[in-house]
Amino acid sequence: MHPFTYTRVFDTREAVNAGQRGGRYIAGGTTLVDLMRETVERPGTLVDITGLPLGEVSVTERGGLRIGALVRMAEAAADPKVRALYPVISQALELSASAQLRNMATIGGNLMQRTRCPYFRDVTAACNKREPGSGCAAHKGFNRTHAILGTSDACVATHPSDVAVAFAALEARLHLTGSDGPRTVSLADFLLRPGTTPNSEQAIRQGELITAVEIPDHPRPLKSGYLKVRDRQSYEFALTSAAVALHIRDGVIREAKVAAGGVGTVPWKLPAVERRLIGERPSKRLWAEAAERAADGARPLRHNRFKVELLKRTVERQLRIVGGDQ
Ligand code: SF4
Repeated sequence: MHPFTYTRVFDTREAVNAGQRGGRYIAGGTTLVDLMRETVERPGTLVDITGLPLGEVSVTERGGLRIGALVRMAEAAADPKVRALYPVISQALELSASAQLRNMATIGGNLMQRTRCPYFRDVTAACNKREPGSGCAAHKGFNRTHAILGTSDACVATHPSDVAVAFAALEARLHLTGSDGPRTVSLADFLLRPGTTPNSEQAIRQGELITAVEIPDHPRPLKSGYLKVRDRQSYEFALTSAAVALHIRDGVIREAKVAAGGVGTVPWKLPAVERRLIGERPSKRLWAEAAERAADGARPLRHNRFKVELLKRTVERQLRIVGGDQ
């Protein structure tokens, strides 16, 4: 591990000033410390933000949900408001990582975590994300767990987060603060596809800090849930996953929010699936027809062609679980 200095801050302005000077924020440290040990990350200064007052979950005036950036994953998963309003969020969190990691890792850190592509973590491998211009070892290497959607010639790494898939489905917005003051941005605009610059993963400015995630209110009743398919049932990343939220009134689907994980370079919203559902009556046939659109535009690699069919089946199954097995 390379030498670094450590400082602790207790108000947001102090944090932003330290970030402006090049400090890296640390809270749970469940990604950053690993990467520092492997010398993938070499920050000169760590700015410990765990003393900031960003640890609340609250219902907004408009009936949505606001989750502070420093709420631990386990706390958010167990929060009665999260469980009651958006089970898809608590389920995604409970299926993430391990209990120990969920007790440490924060919601803001989850959205700032870096890819789990093994070549990214191997400093002897070519990786455009770690070292721009060096190439991508995954393209010709073992790419079974890599992305099939949103990829580029420069990078095919999947986004690792589960809860970000639930946030994407629900069209979450992020609250940030920086030297120019506070601003909000949609999660869809915040998490970047690799394009030609895979080293740039989030649309965040120097010194900016995530302060909260806001889920807009959605019409009620809203049924929602998260399904994760993986090689083993614990402490494993998704091969495919599906976050589904459905508003069904008088037997008709009025609103559908669907996103997939484990398949995209960012959490992958599925508007074609949503469009097929809205205005229809739930049925087994509808779930299957909608899910058939889940992999539109997929570009599988040598070892992950199975994800195309697995994604469709994952979405179909989760639509059935949430919407009913009519
Ligand atoms: Fe690096 Fe992306 Fe290629 Fe993985 S897929 S080796 S993260 S450039």
